[in-house]
Parts: sequence; C-alpha cells; structure tokens
Amino acid sequence: LEYLSQTDPAVEAALRAELARERGSVELIASENFTSRAVMEAVGSVLTNKYAEGYPGKRYYGGCEKVDVVEDLARDRACELYGAAFANVQPHSGASANFGAYLAMIEPGDTVLGMSLDHGGHLTHGSPVNFSGLLYDIVSYGVDPVTETIDYDALERQAKEVRPKVIVGGASAYPRVIDFERMAAIAHEVGAYLMVDMAHIAGLVAAGAHPSPVPWADIVTSTSHKTLRGPRGGFILTNDEEMGKKINKAIFPGAQGGPLMHVIAGKAVAFGEALQPSYRDYIAHVVENCRVLGQGMMDGGLRLVSGGTDNHLCLVDLTAADITGKDAEKLLESVGLTVNKNSIPNEPRSPFVTSGIRVGSAAATTRGFTAEDFYQVGQLIAAAVFHPADDALLADVRAKVDAMLEAHPLYPGLEY
Ligand code: PLP
Repeated sequence: LEYLSQTDPAVEAALRAELARERGSVELIASENFTSRAVMEAVGSVLTNKYAEGYPGKRYYGGCEKVDVVEDLARDRACELYGAAFANVQPHSGASANFGAYLAMIEPGDTVLGMSLDHGGHLTHGSPVNFSGLLYDIVSYGVDPVTETIDYDALERQAKEVRPKVIVGGASAYPRVIDFERMAAIAHEVGAYLMVDMAHIAGLVAAGAHPSPVPWADIVTSTSHKTLRGPRGGFILTNDEEMGKKINKAIFPGAQGGPLMHVIAGKAVAFGEALQPSYRDYIAHVVENCRVLGQGMMDGGLRLVSGGTDNHLCLVDLTAADITGKDAEKLLESVGLTVNKNSIPNEPRSPFVTSGIRVGSAAATTRGFTAEDFYQVGQLIAAAVFHPADDALLADVRAKVDAMLEAHPLYPGLEY
C-alpha cells in the first residue's frame, strides 16, 4: 500500500485490518470467496478511470477502444464457459442483474412467482422491502415441509393457479440440486418466462457440478463473486437473440449508467480462470468438502435442513443445541469460524435472530483446506454450539482453528 500509506493512513489501516481478519478466521460464509491476485490486479487498475456508456463498438464516449477489448473478452468467455449465445457483463451486482432481467421481461404490476426469503430465496425474488416486491405482484413458493426440498408438483399446481408472467428459480440458501428443466416446463406450460438466478451455484454450473439452467431458462442471472470466485458484480445470459437485445437495453440505459470497466476486467480474468481444468478440480473439492463439513456437523449432533447437501452450502438447524442463529454466529466468530445466521424453513424466529446458520465451503477450499480439515471444522462447530459456556472447550476449538489457518496461509506473499 505504497501510496495509500502516504496519503490516507485511515483507509490504509482499514485495508490492513481486513486482510488480517480474512487471514485470521475460517471463512464459511457461503456467498464469499477469495479472488486470485490477478483478479484483484485487474479491479485495482486504470480501468476505473474510464466512462464507457453503451456496449463495445457502440459507446457514448470516445476513447473506448481499449475497454472494448476487455468487455468483449468478458462476454466471449462468459458465453464459452456457460455455452450461452449472449452475455451482458455490465450489471454492477447480482441485484442489478435481477433488476435488469425483470425490466427486460415484464411491466410493473405483473405477477412473479419466486422462492420466499425464509425458504432460501433472495431479497430480489420478491421481498416486500425490495424493489421486486415494491414493483411487482409477488407470489412466493417454498419448500415441502417434510422433505425441505422444492416440490415441483406443488409448484406446478401453484403456477397454474397464479398464472405468473415470470417464475424465478435459484436461491441463496438451498443446499440441493435444482431441476431447472422441470421448472422451465412448468413456466412455459403456463405461458411464463423462467428466470434462473444462479448466483450461488455459478461456479458449480461452470464446472459441470450442477446441471446448467442455460439450456432451459429464458434468462439466467448471476453474481460473479460467490462460488465463481470473481470480483464483486453481476452478469446475465440468454440463448434468445431478441431477449439479449432487451437485456442490453434494460441494463443500459434502463438500469445503470457507465459500466465498471475495472470490474468487468476482473470478470474477464475470473471467467478465464474458470475455463481452466484446475477450476474443475477446485469445484470438485468445494462439493466434496461441503459434504464432509455437513457430515462433521451431523456426527456432532446437528441437523442439516433437507438432511444433507449436494452443493457448496449446508443449512444447519440449531434447534437441538438450543441456541439461536444470532448467538451461534457471534460465538463461532469468537473462535475464528465465520458463518452467518440464517432462517430455516418454517422459521419460528425473526430474520434477525433465526434458528439456523448457513455454512459454505467455497472460500476455505480456495485457501487450501482439505476434506480432513472440513470434517474437523464441522465437529468444532457442533462442539461450540452445544457448549457455548465451556471456556476450556472453546479455547481448544480456537487452538485447533488457528492450527488449520496457519497450515493454509491466505494470499501468501501479499504484503499490506
Ligand atoms: N441472487 C442471489 C441468489 C444471491 O444470493 C445474491 C446475494 O447474496 C444476489 C442475487 C445479490 O447479489 P448482490 O449482493 O451482488 O447484489
């Protein structure tokens, strides 16, 4: 931080503190990851200086030839990675991608059928406090109370009754495979579009570890920063040329002004990384490590929502440990395990308290944690939440966590 240290010690100190925090705990937040140094270099580059409203070859500013190269690389690589005909890589975030997708498909007041927040959906799938709930007529679907998985027959019945203009597939806290082919059949049967928000599983889809929504959905939206391991941002895919034109108009000028070209460069780098064979190995480890993490927690006496996981996250029901999600989050943070509280299906508590936590394997796998480490982490989580007042036990957990962190240094050689 050669320059910041001279000009802005306050921001410099905050950056140093964040690097130390990331190094000093096991990152188990399922929506987070550690990008490569190459991605960070692209994001921290001169491209942040450039205005480039419009799209490559059709800009509203001069001097865009060089950033056109970057955006074309990002679009082409996204299409190659996902086997899609069209990509828009400009959304500033996942929420912006979803805003653009709705704008491309429907009018305010139209009916959207999305997964409810407390069953694993995202705010942008219809929460009343989000633009989606404010602008559209939202009807929610949830998971089956017994299996805690999506009941596609029930969804079909609901879709026939509600006759939405859009069905939204995808979730923020759903540990199982989603049948996008079936969802598309249901949507198209009732004359609705299927929009799939694959933000969480984008990396798994890229690596073939989760069935792709791209052949089935009318629009696929995503973030680039979760399992995909790119910079913070969003993107949109479709195979339909006409829909592609609508998406471009919806993002610019519909929803955004100038694109973040430095972030788009980071997305290009991340898509390039995800096209490498080593990325498939990474994702295979993410999925296996998550399964083992879940096993460790179950062997320690905790229940996983739906009984297990097929992807990069586990949703943990803390009822047996008699601790709230809020308290568990705080307790686990104190022993170096970073998780987030999360509602579980049929949640009796408020979203600020909750009865569950969500844990994921993407970030710690990037850091080099092995399956053995993940099993131990699962056991340590269970031990801590069942004995939140046992100081000796918590000290032992912290010592074991520290040993694992030391064995797998984060960003070795990065000097802040
Ligand atoms: N969609 C899903 C399924 C998500 O889980 C998230 C973020 O958690 C988003 C969209 C929103 O992404 P962002 O935070 O980049 O707006």
